[in-house]
Amino acid sequence: MIKHALETQKPILDMLHKSMENGRLSHAYLFNGEEGSERMGVALYFACMLYCPDVCLECKECKDIMTNNHLNVMVIDRLPGKSEIVKEQIESLKEELSKTGLKYGPRIYIINDCDKMNSTCANKLLKFIEEPYDDIYAILLTTNKDSILQTIRSRCQVINLLPMDKAELKNKLINEGIEEDKALILSNIYSSVKACKTALEDEIFNKCINVCKTIIEMISKGFPNTTIYMKNELSYYSSKEVIDTFLKVLLLYFIEAKKINSFVFIKDIETFKKIKVNLTPLIDLIIKSQFNLRYNIDRELLLVNLFIEIDRRVINASN
Ligand SMILES: [Zn+2]
Repeated sequence: MIKHALETQKPILDMLHKSMENGRLSHAYLFNGEEGSERMGVALYFACMLYCPDVCLECKECKDIMTNNHLNVMVIDRLPGKSEIVKEQIESLKEELSKTGLKYGPRIYIINDCDKMNSTCANKLLKFIEEPYDDIYAILLTTNKDSILQTIRSRCQVINLLPMDKAELKNKLINEGIEEDKALILSNIYSSVKACKTALEDEIFNKCINVCKTIIEMISKGFPNTTIYMKNELSYYSSKEVIDTFLKVLLLYFIEAKKINSFVFIKDIETFKKIKVNLTPLIDLIIKSQFNLRYNIDRELLLVNLFIEIDRRVINASN
């Protein structure tokens, strides 16, 4: 976990190190990061750093922390079969920390999924965070900082972790059995495994992929009528978000089609090979449409204009 955090959250870890060196560590942190962002790894790194400034990962302190055997590092997680952290867990934490530690040194408690807490429990935690204890550090972990009680959030230093790297996310999706072409598309649009899986089940996302495939096929035949086709599809593109997703998928298809051999869209290679038009200016047109989408312009017009221009260039290229 810590090793993974070192690979993916290095700037965050460096920042924590600097805070420690400057004597500016906060007594309560909220690490907010998407699914897969190694929140626990960062929390354990923080604990190691307090005991072993080099975070060597080899000494007894580091090893005890990594294996959850350190007397002064407590990790609170939902109990098996429970959907929430229960108030008894916070009460026993309080009791534990009110005693003198068995081991000399700072004490760190890490609460995983701290958004999964009912209000009684959250209020108990709040009271605890409010009382200043020397040498006790609270680390709260969440995937959704907005669902944490505002009063708790305001007492913590909130640190937003970095989203997962696209290539890494793609590999994770492939390992979970998702086809490589879909994994590429998903990892370029979303930033967590969970969000990708949700999209996979979403009718609109799958529709976007099919529409893009059809458009590419039309272009490969040289006499496209993508404008008419898109006009019939317009009812699906009612929101800015859907058009944004659609344009991202379309852009990926065009970028892959431009390569002599796409190693991702293997099933589409034969179609890609038939394309005669120079795709570079078409890619520029899609990027320009993405840019224009940010402003309040007529969305229907935006799509229609894009495809009129695509059709025009494809027809010119086949003459
Ligand atoms: Zn060490």
